[in-house]
Amino acid sequence: MKLKDKVCIVTGAASGIGKEIAIVFAREGGKVVIADLNKDAAQATADEIKATGGGAMAVAMDVTSEEQVNAAVAEVVAAWGGVDVLVSNAGIQIVHPTEEYPFADWKKMLAIHLDGAFLTTKACLPHMYAKGSGSIIYMGSVHSKEASVLKSAYVTAKHGLIGLAKVIAKEGGRKGVRANVICPGFVRTPLVEKQIPEQAKTLGISEADVVKNVMLKETVDGEFTTTDDVAEVALLFASFPSNALTGQSLVVSHGWFMQ
Ligand code: NAD
Repeated sequence: MKLKDKVCIVTGAASGIGKEIAIVFAREGGKVVIADLNKDAAQATADEIKATGGGAMAVAMDVTSEEQVNAAVAEVVAAWGGVDVLVSNAGIQIVHPTEEYPFADWKKMLAIHLDGAFLTTKACLPHMYAKGSGSIIYMGSVHSKEASVLKSAYVTAKHGLIGLAKVIAKEGGRKGVRANVICPGFVRTPLVEKQIPEQAKTLGISEADVVKNVMLKETVDGEFTTTDDVAEVALLFASFPSNALTGQSLVVSHGWFMQ
C-alpha cells in the first residue's frame, strides 16, 4: 500500500476526477477526506469508500471561503492529527467568447480555481511543515499549457496553478513539502458533459463534432482520458518517495499536448 495511514484531503471529491482519486488513495491505505461544496454528495462518496473498508470522512468546504477552508482543515486535523496530501481539484467550467464573458463569471472562475488552490494550500502547509513532509497536487489541465477558444478564464486560471506549484515547491523544499500539477486532457465527467451542448450551440456545430473535432481532434487515438488515468498520476505524485519530483506538471491527455 503506497499511502498507508496518510491523511489525504481531496477537494471537489464528490464527483468526477476527485472522486476517483479519493477511491484510489483509499485503496492504497490512505485516510481520505472528501471535501466538497455538496456535503450530501461528499458524504455519499465517503460512505461508498467506507463500505469497501477504506478510511474516509466528508467535510463541507467551499474552496473560495477562507473561513470554510480553515474550519474544514481544522476538523480534519482534530480527527486525524494532521495532513499529508492535499489534492486541490475542485473546479468548474464556464465558456464564452472573451468579448461577451461576464465579469462576474470571470471572477467566479478565478476564485474557485486560484483562490481555492491558495486557500487550501495556506491552510494545509503549517501542518505539513510541522511533520516535515507533504505532497500538494494541483489539478491543472492541458489548458495549463495550451489555449482553446471560449475559455479565457479557465486557461488563465489553469496556467496560474503552474506558477503557484513552482513557488510552493521552492518554499517547501527544505521542509519536505512537494508541489506538482496534473494536466489532464478531456475526461468525460459532468464538467465535460455540460460543455458539449454549450460548445455545439456557441460554435454552430453538432455535439458529435464537438467531441470528435474539438475535444479529441489533437489526441493520438481519438480517446478520452479517464478518471482512472488521472488518479494513477495523482497516486504517483502523492506517494513519490523524495523531493526529486517537485515543481513539475505532467500532461495525461492521449498525446493531445506533447512537451
Ligand atoms: P466534476 O464537475 O465532475 O467535479 C467537480 C467537483 O467540484 C464537484 O463535486 C463540485 O461540487 C466541486 N466543486 C465545485 N465548486 C466547488 C467549490 N467552490 N468548493 C468545493 N467544491 C467545489 O468535474 P471534474 O471534471 O471531475 O473536474 C475536477 C477538476 O479537474 C477541475 O479542476 C477541472 O478543471 C479539472 N479538469 C477536468 C478535465 C475534464 O475533462 N473533466 C480536464 C482537465 C482538468
